[in-house]
Amino acid sequence: MVKGLLKKFYALLKKEAVHENEPQRILFLLRNMLLFLTLYFLIFPAVMCLVGPRTEVWVALVFAVLSLGAFYGTYRVRVQTSVLICVTLQLAWVIAFVLMYGWDCGIQHLMFEMIVLLYFSIYNALIYKIGYTVFLFIVRFCLFMYCRSHVPYFPLSETATVVIQVVNMVLAFLLIGIACGAFSSNVESAEKKLVLYNEQLKKQAGTDPLTGLWNRRQMMQYITEKHKKDPKMAFTLGMGDIDFFKRINDHWGHDCGDAVLVWITKHMSRELSEHAKLCRWGGEEFIFFFPDMNGDEVCTILNVLRMKLDNDPFDWKGEWIPVTMTFGVEENDFHSNIDTLLKNVDDKLYMGKEQGRDRVIY
Ligand code: GH3
Ligand code: MG
Ligand code: MG
Repeated sequence: MVKGLLKKFYALLKKEAVHENEPQRILFLLRNMLLFLTLYFLIFPAVMCLVGPRTEVWVALVFAVLSLGAFYGTYRVRVQTSVLICVTLQLAWVIAFVLMYGWDCGIQHLMFEMIVLLYFSIYNALIYKIGYTVFLFIVRFCLFMYCRSHVPYFPLSETATVVIQVVNMVLAFLLIGIACGAFSSNVESAEKKLVLYNEQLKKQAGTDPLTGLWNRRQMMQYITEKHKKDPKMAFTLGMGDIDFFKRINDHWGHDCGDAVLVWITKHMSRELSEHAKLCRWGGEEFIFFFPDMNGDEVCTILNVLRMKLDNDPFDWKGEWIPVTMTFGVEENDFHSNIDTLLKNVDDKLYMGKEQGRDRVIY
């Protein structure tokens, strides 16, 4: 029952405004602030009745009604208007309060919260925000000067001053706290989204969309960084190319060609990814980077893959298409640079094609 009521209350606070594209988080913040203010305006007369002059406490009740009105207004008017109403209401209270009870009760600290609210929730040019700040400064300064030469209408006793100071301090800290909390979590969530988005973009930029393998750029970056970190690193490069792939495209169509690329990627991933980083170098060519492995070891692994392909034709809508691959293998010789090693492995692959395809050349 209580849980249900709380849920409804929460839904009410979260309810969208009548206007479209309004910043929902600011609306939520404003409603919370206005409810706290209403509570404050209701508690204030009770506190005054206990410790201070009881005359004119109705003023706070009027502000309670106005605050509730502003709360209702958040469902009707634009967020910017609601922010201005909320700030004006607080400013009116600060002025009325200081004139009635004097400067010593700390209500003027609410102005700092007003500045936070104006700066972060209104999408005006900076010049307007500076204008608001200067305006609030002038009001505060005038109030301070006024209080130096005038006694308040209802001077407070020492005890009343302390109690009201505490009540006002709680209100000011609470409002500043929830405003800063809301805006900092805004920034945090925006930052998190940005980091996530950046990671996605980075992943996309380094991935081949058809096969999901790394693309050439990502592989080059990986090998170059690895090599730079440890120039003495032992590794072997493998290069694979599908044999007569053009014929598959020409005979069964481009879709079939694409499906062969995906299917062959599954085969390669199953057989190689335990030992190597794989990438689609371009078209129907693939590069494999085998760290800590020599050329003979890589030849053995690639031959296993090659023979599996030989024994497992591709099933295209019930038709069995034989797909073979030719591979080149080049071991790091510790004095050639990456480009030379890549050229060598490409030459070996070419030799394999020359010698009749479906083989591994080392
Ligand atoms: P070889 O045995 O000498 O390698 O012959 P090949 O036909 O495999 O080689 P060739 O370089 O003549 O043709 C490669 C073909 O791969 C040409 C191109 O249209 C095709 N191709 C490149 N990328 C894709 C792709 O993403 N999808 C499909 N379906 N075809 C592609
Ligand atoms: Mg080919
Ligand atoms: Mg090719």
